[in-house]
Formats: sequence, C-alpha cells, structure tokens
Amino acid sequence: MKPVEKLRLLIGEEKVIIDKEKLIPYSHDASDASPVMPMAVIYPENTEDVEKAVEILYRERIPITPRGMGTSLSGGAVPTPGGVVISFERMNRILELDTENLTITVEPGVITGDLIRAVESENLFYPPDPASLETCTIGGNVAENAGGPRAFKYGTTRHYVLELEAVVGEGKRITTGKKTKKWVVGYDLPQLLTGSEGTLGILTRITLRLLPKPPSTFTLLAAFGSEENAARSVSRIIKNGLLPSAMEYVDGKCIEAVGQEIAPFLPSGTGAILLIEFDGFGPEFESQVERAYELMEKDGVIEVFVASDSATREKLWKARRNVLPSLEKLGRKIRHEDVVVPRNMIPALVEYTRVVEEKTGLMLATFGHAGDGNIHVNILYDEGQESSMEKAVDMVIEKVWELGGTAAGEHGIGLLKKKHLYRELDPVTIELQKAIKGIFDPLRLFNPDKVF
Ligand SMILES: Cc1cc2nc3c(=O)[nH]c(=O)nc-3n(C[C@H](O)[C@H](O)[C@H](O)COP(=O)(O)OP(=O)(O)OC[C@H]3O[C@@H](n4cnc5c(N)ncnc54)[C@H](O)[C@@H]3O)c2cc1C
Repeated sequence: MKPVEKLRLLIGEEKVIIDKEKLIPYSHDASDASPVMPMAVIYPENTEDVEKAVEILYRERIPITPRGMGTSLSGGAVPTPGGVVISFERMNRILELDTENLTITVEPGVITGDLIRAVESENLFYPPDPASLETCTIGGNVAENAGGPRAFKYGTTRHYVLELEAVVGEGKRITTGKKTKKWVVGYDLPQLLTGSEGTLGILTRITLRLLPKPPSTFTLLAAFGSEENAARSVSRIIKNGLLPSAMEYVDGKCIEAVGQEIAPFLPSGTGAILLIEFDGFGPEFESQVERAYELMEKDGVIEVFVASDSATREKLWKARRNVLPSLEKLGRKIRHEDVVVPRNMIPALVEYTRVVEEKTGLMLATFGHAGDGNIHVNILYDEGQESSMEKAVDMVIEKVWELGGTAAGEHGIGLLKKKHLYRELDPVTIELQKAIKGIFDPLRLFNPDKVF
C-alpha cells in the first residue's frame, strides 16, 4: 500500500489531500524562496492524528514540514521535495483560558489575533503581536519565536511559553514545561523547541503566560523630515530612560513607495515616521508621553498625530501593518532581511543602505521594530537581478556584523538565511546544534534543509 493510502486509512480520507490544485497554496510561503509542491497535505484534528501520521511518515522516510498559515519570510514553511505538509488549520481551538492563574492553552492553529482578542475580552494581555497577527498562527509564532512591536517592552514569544506538547521522531509524544510560574525540573526543552522552526518536533498544544491588561494606551505617530532624524530620536528616547511599549520605524523609501496607501494623512516632506506607543497608568505614564514629544522636537519632528481612543489607534497601527503588504503590491520580488543592530547604530545602518543602493542599483526599503534595533531591510528586485540582490544581502549583513549586530532577529533562518548562520555561529556550536537535532529527529525528516 502507498504511504498516502496508509495515511488515509489510519487517520481518515478527508484529512489527507493529494489533489494538485489544492496543493499549490502549500508550495510556498510569504518569502521569495522558490516554491516546491508537496506530495500531500495532512490536516490533523488532534494530537493522535499527528502521532499516527508521523509514525507512518517516519517509517516511509518521508520529509515533513509543519505549517501554520505560511507567512514565514525565510522559506521555513516551503516543503521539501517529495515531502508532505502537516497543516494546523483544523487544530485551532482555545482549550483553556485560566483567568485565575493567567494562562491560556491552545492548539497550534489558533490565529494570533483571535488569541489576543479572546484574552483581552477577559481584561488580560498577551503581548507578542507580530504585524502579521491576523494571518499567522500561534504554532508558527512559537516555532519562529516571533516578535512584534511590543517586544521592545514585553519580549518575544519565548518569554510567554510555559508548557508545550510536541510530537518528535517516530511519532512519540512529549509534554514539557509546566503551567506553573516557575519550573526547573530538567533541561528547558520548551525554550529549545521555541524558535526551532519545525526542525525538532511538531507542536500540538501550547500553554502561554498572560499578563493583566494595561489600563491605558497612548499612541503617537511622528513624521520626520529625514530618516537620520527619526533614527536619532529612537536613541534619544531610549537614552532618556523612556520605556514605550512599541517604537516602530518606517523609512522614506517605504513612504515614497506606498505612503498614500499606508498613511494618506502624512505631511509632504515626510522622510520617515516613528510609531510610538506607551501603556500603563498614572502620572508617570502621562509624563513619559509628554517627554517623548519634547525629545522628538530636538530631532526636528515635523508633525505628531496622537491617538488615545481605540479607533484612531487602530488607524495609525493599520498604517504600520500595511507597509509590507503595500510593498508587495509593487509586484517586485522582495528579499526580507531581518537584522538587529545595537540601537544607537540604526542611523549608521540606514545610511549604509543608501550605499548599497548605489552599488547594486536596487531599491532597499527599511522599516521595523526600531526600539529593539530590529530593522527589516527589504531588497526589491526583478527576475534576472538575483546576483545583484545576493550582493546587496552580503553587503548589508557584513555591515550589520561590523556594527555589532546579528543577521536574524525574529523571522528565523529557514532556507534563505542559512549562509548567515554558518558565518555567525562558531563551528563547535553548529555541531552541537546539529547533534541536538539528531536526538529529537534521528532520521532528520522534520523540515529538512531548514536552519542548517
Ligand atoms: C506582513 C507580514 C508581517 C510580519 N510581521 C512579523 C512581525 O512583526 N514579527 C515576526 O516575528 N514575524 C513577522 N512576520 C513573519 C511571520 O508572520 C512569522 O514568522 C509567524 O510566526 C509565522 O506564522 P505562521 O503561522 O504563518 O507559520 P508558517 O509560516 O506556516 O511557519 C513558520 C515556521 O514554523 C513552523 N511551524 C508552523 N507550525 C508549526 C507547528 N505546529 N509545530 C512546529 N513547527 C511549526 C514551520 O515549519 C515554519 O518553519 C510577518 C510576515 C508577514 C507576511
């Protein structure tokens, strides 16, 4: 019997598709990695389905790519040739929202925005908020250790992971971590699985820590005449001890390319914007907002739009979240680099992207989580310009290392950033990590070719 027939027999016909037309959406993710058609897509409805599927696939030595919503920007969700995709679309239930112990337990296919809304309806708070939150899953977020604007104050997904259930090699189930606030029984496998990009195990249940919801939020969108001024204000705000919950940067290239679409209200002459949000309560919170305004004036801020109500706030955030989708509408290919530099080096990095533009003839648009020094450098290119794009990538990454930064902050290594990993990590660390992979996945069938 063929493997697909075995799978259908064991977990149900309707949970395994092989129809070519239906497989196409699973052949790519949101990155510019070349598409690969999977042999089949499996839609488990519970952990038992995943265990049975992995057992068969392991026996048949078939590569497995777990998939949330395919918004990965590093090629992590692109299948391996001859492999199958396990899609978590049908495992999207919130299993428990514990309002006494401030935790939530979910299946991996829950959309991040739905989780955030469920939590906030109980006056609680789940901070990690990738800009893709309406179109990505919590399983994908844990697998990528996703960040987002609020990571500046609250940290990334890994700071909220308490307990994970996963299926590892040969279809064995593990439950690791605890729902409790503290836990030191054995190695911290939940943290190892977080950010492992589907290469160590397949996440089937996730328990996350929650916080009380901050009572007030205040958002500012500041328009600057130049990128350097906006970048300088980021350092100034941090140096002066302010702690916004988010501090996002969008450069002049993005505004030029898509400004009318993302923020038609921007004054002419806007060369860059900062979107800054404060949350908290009391006089200290209010004085932080005022102080931010004063500090940005020192960098010649042209205009500041403010929002204290949720409708206006949503309008300002929509402008920020639409930057990448709007860039994509330009119809060119985009290589999304996801670098992090010490925050006082942001002006130097931004300035250097103009040098790269001159040397390669390509357009580089930057935006991202400036408060973390996490700048998304988007290299726009067309068919036939691949070698210029690769040259631009190398120039940017070399510069980032020279500035004391790292090649990847939150989008993972996937397929597209492997060469950065091999240069950023020392050989012994790489061998150790490969050995760890072999323990979880002896036949190396979980998302092969990703990360290493
Ligand atoms: C417009 C846009 C904005 C974005 N903004 C941000 C941002 O602000 N911050 C940020 O961090 N990222 C951002 N991203 C990147 C992306 O959304 C995140 O990496 C997200 O976590 C991926 O979730 P997903 O459900 O789409 O996962 P997928 O893309 O389907 O998968 C991502 C990786 O996780 C693995 N995986 C998925 N589910 C599981 C599972 N159950 N078990 C094990 N492995 C699994 C996959 O194999 C793959 O390696 C953005 C992307 C886009 C397109």
